[in-house]
Amino acid sequence: MPTAYLALGSNLADRRHLLAAALAALARDPQNRLTGVSPVYETKAVGLTDQPDFLNCVVRLETDLAPLALLDLCLAIEQQLGRIRRERWGPRTVDLDLLLHEETTLHDDRLTLPHPRMKTRAFVLAPLADLAPDLLLHGEPIRTHLARADQTGVHRTDINLAALA
Ligand code: ATP
Ligand code: CA
Ligand code: CA
Repeated sequence: MPTAYLALGSNLADRRHLLAAALAALARDPQNRLTGVSPVYETKAVGLTDQPDFLNCVVRLETDLAPLALLDLCLAIEQQLGRIRRERWGPRTVDLDLLLHEETTLHDDRLTLPHPRMKTRAFVLAPLADLAPDLLLHGEPIRTHLARADQTGVHRTDINLAALA
């Protein structure tokens, strides 16, 4: 089965419950098998900085869903968990981004793979490096991208999502 990595984030309402619920919803799909969950990080918002801190994590799936089908599942789960889109990069109950799907490179109107902003985002690279430090992105391992990224405001927590699902 192809391997995919997804980034989960939440900075509104009950953040840990929302991450756990998103995780459970991904795992519940019969075409997915959840094979890894990173530690949870608490992170300062970047870009639009005047908003609450995030909880972030990364999950690994073995999946029979094609990339666009997996994106649709992510968007459906966001909706089920009450996400309302207001401003871009604004606060959100839950955000599910598709980081990587095997070696797929894609430039579709609705989906870019690998995720175009992941290579500088410590809040994505830190949890991804916990799961897959040697995974290559643009020819370099994730740990190398992480070492270059600004890790200010990115802190690992001891939150156990499995206990909350
Ligand atoms: P960012 O993409 O910078 O993390 P965001 O997650 O806040 O910002 P959203 O409003 O959640 O952005 O998503 C806007 C659109 O981005 C989605 O509807 C989706 O079609 C598109 N998109 C393109 N590539 C991806 C990807 N790799 N993962 C998720 N969404 C993507
Ligand atoms: Ca995002
Ligand atoms: Ca998103």
